[in-house]
This record gives sequence, structure tokens and C-alpha cells, in this order.
Amino acid sequence: MVSGQVKSGASALVRLPKAELHLHLEGCLYPMQVVQLAARHGEKLRYGEVAARYNTQSFPAFLELFKWATSYLRDPQDYALLCEHPGLHLVAENCVYAEITLSVGVMLLRKQNVEANFAAIRDAMDRYAKPSGLRVRWIFDAVRQFGPEKAMEVARLAAQMKSAGVVAFGLGGDEESLPASDFRKVFDYAAAEGLHRVAHAGEMGGPQAVRDAIEILGAERIGHGIAAIHDEGLMNLLIERQIPLEICPTSNLRTGALAKLLARNFPSDARATHSSAGRSFSLPAAARLEDHPLAKFIARGVPVTLASDDPAMFRTTLLAEYTLALARMGLTLPQLISISEAPFRYAFLPAPERNSLLDTFRSKTSSLSQVIS
Ligand SMILES: [Zn+2]
Repeated sequence: MVSGQVKSGASALVRLPKAELHLHLEGCLYPMQVVQLAARHGEKLRYGEVAARYNTQSFPAFLELFKWATSYLRDPQDYALLCEHPGLHLVAENCVYAEITLSVGVMLLRKQNVEANFAAIRDAMDRYAKPSGLRVRWIFDAVRQFGPEKAMEVARLAAQMKSAGVVAFGLGGDEESLPASDFRKVFDYAAAEGLHRVAHAGEMGGPQAVRDAIEILGAERIGHGIAAIHDEGLMNLLIERQIPLEICPTSNLRTGALAKLLARNFPSDARATHSSAGRSFSLPAAARLEDHPLAKFIARGVPVTLASDDPAMFRTTLLAEYTLALARMGLTLPQLISISEAPFRYAFLPAPERNSLLDTFRSKTSSLSQVIS
């Protein structure tokens, strides 16, 4: 794609109505907010030191950053601050529907009042969402390495707070820590309570982790799932059951997940330099967004959505992911318009509400398609 097409495509992407299905609220904690929160709790941090920690290049480093930065989220007021950036970015980028994940497992670990945190978060998000018409629903996420008992506590809270907009139970954290079978009862409970189910799988783990999330846990969507590119049978399963992969390309680059995926194909310890936001990083294997399997999944017919994951920590936004897909991952603008419909189709909403969002999306994009054709 030549740069002129990218430029005109980029302006069409801004106008494209979007939905975001894989966004961690805690991943919206920006370095300056960490400084503010630390000050509120009596600790002086320098912005430069905090920003330097945000330069993660591996999954363990990312988990460490997540743990450290979120350790300053201590009361409902702190959590309310988190809504500022998603509230502003989502609205500015023409996102009309979002399912936002809360790491309730971490709140419980820190012995916080989940109900009070969640009430403050909803109030804060309403201030941004209501005037713009942005609809937000919530996913309560358990941390895999904390074990099934802790995960069950998260699922119970999710069930209790369904009337406040919680639509799903999710499993995140380190997918290689404990087997999916440990969490079967928790997912069965969530299903019986009428919650939807999602799981991070096939991000750092292999294709079997994705298969287990589907067949053992009954996951209806998969967070990342890029490892499926190595398994034809698994891709067929995703197509047959219409289970989408929530693809977050920049995240895959910054956690080393893409490098790991590529290393499976091309074992090599050759180092490559990646440039992002004016800085250069050395990654453990050749990993460039150009090598991301997104276009291959689309060509194969595997359902996918595009998402930003932890935008503050990966220095991205939902619009940036669409723009990168156009400029560097080999997608055409009509393909992007087509996959931007996917998160509306796979939203965890009752059918009438989902269909109404889809109708609005289609009428807005049909005029957009005429403009670009
Ligand atoms: Zn995630």
C-alpha cells in the first residue's frame, strides 16, 4: 500500500464506528497518573523513572510493570482516575461500544472493596460515556496463577454485579502457570449464572492452550490466540464455532509474544531492532508487525477482532491498532471495514441490543464505503 492510500485510509479509519472488546482498565494507567497516585499516597516518584519502566519487551517484564504500577491503585478514588484516558480516547476515536476488563483478582489480592471500586469506576466512566452515547459493559477477570479458589471468588462477584453491567467472567494472567482443567468448575459456575466466558490463551502458550480454553472452559472468545496460526485443525474449530480471536498486535510485539510465535517457525537467536514511538528496542527474535499473523487469519476465514489490550503500557490506542493494520500488516481498507464489524457481532449483549448496534454500524459504514470506493 502506498503512503497516499494509507493517508486517506487513516482518515477513513477515524470515522469508522468501532467497538473494543479487549481493553484492561488497569492497562490505561499512564506514567503521569502513577506519579499522581504515588503522591496521593505520600510517595514521591519522578516521571522519567516511571516512564522508563513502561518500556517492556517481554511478558515477565510486562507482568512486573502491571503489578508495580497498579500497586498505587488503593481506593475507589484511585480507580476512578483510571477512566479518564479510556473515556477520552474511546470517544475521540469514534468507539461506540466497549467491554472493559477489570482485574478483580488483583483487587481481591490487595483486600480491596470490589463493590466500592466498581461503583466509583462506573460513575467516572458514565461522565465520559453518557454525553457521547458510548455504551460500556464490564468483564471481571481472575488471575490464573492465583488459582481456582480465588478465581471462583471473582466469578461470584461477577454474578452478583450483573445488574450493574457485568457481562462476562474472564481468565487472564500467566496462561502457562496452571492447566485449564483446574478452572473448569469456575467456568461452569459462571455459565450457570448466565455470564459469558473469555480466556487469554495462545498468547505466550501454544495452540493446545486455545483448544483447552474452548473445549474445557467453554470460552466464547479468546484473548490473543495467535498460536492458533500453527494449528489447521484449531483454526477450523474457531471457524466452525465462530469463536473470535481478540487480536492485539502492539501488545504481541511489546510482550515478546510475537517474537515467541515467530521463533517457533524460525528458531534463531538473531536479534532484531524494532522502532516504536521514536525509540529502538532489541527483541529476542526477529519480530516486526509486518510478520503478525493477522492477515493470515483473515485470509483463512478465522473470526478476529482488533483491540488495544493495555494501551498506556503498550503506548497504543484502538485507532492506532487499526492504522498499523493498514500501514504495516497488509490489510486493505475494505478488509478493515469488514473486520471492524466483528466486535459488534461478538459483543456480549442480548440479541436485540447487538442487532441495533450492528444496524447502526452498517448504515454508517455503507456511506463510508461509498466514499472510499
Ligand atoms: Zn489482555
